[in-house]
Amino acid sequence: MIYKIFNTIAFRLALWFTGIFTICSGVAFVLFYFLATQTIQSQIDQELLDNASKFSAIIHRNGLVGARELAVVEAQAAGEKVIFFRLVYPTGEVFASSHMFYWKQVHVSKNALQTLVLNKNPIFETILIPSTRQKARILYSYVANNAILQTGIVMDFSAKFLSAFKKVFIGAMGFIIVFSAVSGWLLIRKALSGVATITKTAQNITGSNLEARVAGTGNKDELEHLANTFNSMLDRIEELVKSIREMSDNIAHDLKSPITRIRGFAELSLTHEENLEDYRGMASNTIEESDRLLDMINTMLVISKAEAGEGEFEFKKTNLSVMIKAACDLFAPLAEDKNIDFDQTIEEQIFIAADIKMLQRAFSNLLDNAIKYTLENGRVSVTVFKENNLITIKIQDTGIGIESEYFEKIFERFYRAESSRTSAGTGLGLSLARTIVRQHKGDISVSSRQGKGSVFVMTLPYSNLEVI
Ligand code: ADP
Repeated sequence: MIYKIFNTIAFRLALWFTGIFTICSGVAFVLFYFLATQTIQSQIDQELLDNASKFSAIIHRNGLVGARELAVVEAQAAGEKVIFFRLVYPTGEVFASSHMFYWKQVHVSKNALQTLVLNKNPIFETILIPSTRQKARILYSYVANNAILQTGIVMDFSAKFLSAFKKVFIGAMGFIIVFSAVSGWLLIRKALSGVATITKTAQNITGSNLEARVAGTGNKDELEHLANTFNSMLDRIEELVKSIREMSDNIAHDLKSPITRIRGFAELSLTHEENLEDYRGMASNTIEESDRLLDMINTMLVISKAEAGEGEFEFKKTNLSVMIKAACDLFAPLAEDKNIDFDQTIEEQIFIAADIKMLQRAFSNLLDNAIKYTLENGRVSVTVFKENNLITIKIQDTGIGIESEYFEKIFERFYRAESSRTSAGTGLGLSLARTIVRQHKGDISVSSRQGKGSVFVMTLPYSNLEVI
């Protein structure tokens, strides 16, 4: 469970969020701490320099005697524990000082004196008073030609301030870390809750239940977009699964009849004692049914291969007009049998790059349907023309027609409209025709009125020649 939480995006983002928040706050605190120490120290330094100026003024007015008195008085006024004054000659010999009981461990630094004698500029030092463990700021400065003032002040206030600041800092950092971790976790969890909903929906979907959909958040954000994309993907999958189910039902149905018939012939030949002629008839019926089955399976393979882009099409420059005429000649007797008026208007010399055998198969399927689904004394007309780089092959009939809701369905494998179930057929013809035409970068469309007739239009790009 804990391992699972560690692996979540929410946990990792919350960790980042807390880390960045803590680092930023830490940097801000450190900067503030540094600035505060600098300001306090420069205030103390200024106070020490002001004191040195006072001593120089007094010496100027009253001589060293005045300075001696000032040292005692000033130290008493500010507190002898807090401040001291020591007046020394440049040699280091002390000639006056305030009460030094609390400062006896603070000596005159020889190094500081030497540097001061050389440079004349005031010198500051920060020292630790060993007995009280307190920090003190010391100044060495000339107050007269032959007199140097050593004065020191405890940094008590600044130490207190800084230790209070440290406590606030630690407390505040603790609060910031907890607050940023909790608020970050909650915020990120809320932001990612849409992902959890999508995951839950996906988990609820099984092979038999594809109806679940993710509810939108209502905000036009990335998650809403993801939910919509997920839902439309589910719509497509549902449609696909439905069509696969329908197709397998159709396949089962269409394979069942010829196999039952083949079985029937075999049974008949076992149970009845017939003469040789009858056996021959049964054998030839079996072959016919088997051929039909094989033809169906081969057609299915051609469609699947072509749809998967693995079709073995051989494109060659051919005269389309000649191919159409030849196919029409082949079907003319069929039309004649039904006393159908078969009319052809075919533009001459249309050359295209095509697998002409395949294209002939596609055209024949359309023509075969037109004659098959047209009642006796009807009319079928074929028109072929080229216009604006587009070749149009129109097959029009006055047959039984198709309801508009099935215009797309009839191109699916094995689909056969209820009204045409009485005629022979596999339901593969249109599917194969469309696949072949699409391999030639063209398409087939249909318009029809039930009981009035249909028009199938096959279009092919004339620039198809460039395919070679
Ligand atoms: P079939 O072997 O059933 O003819 P097709 O794939 O060629 O298979 O056609 C699919 C279905 O489309 C047919 O079963 C029929 O219902 C409908 N159809 C095709 N062509 C026509 C047409 N010219 N007139 C009416 N219905 C048609």
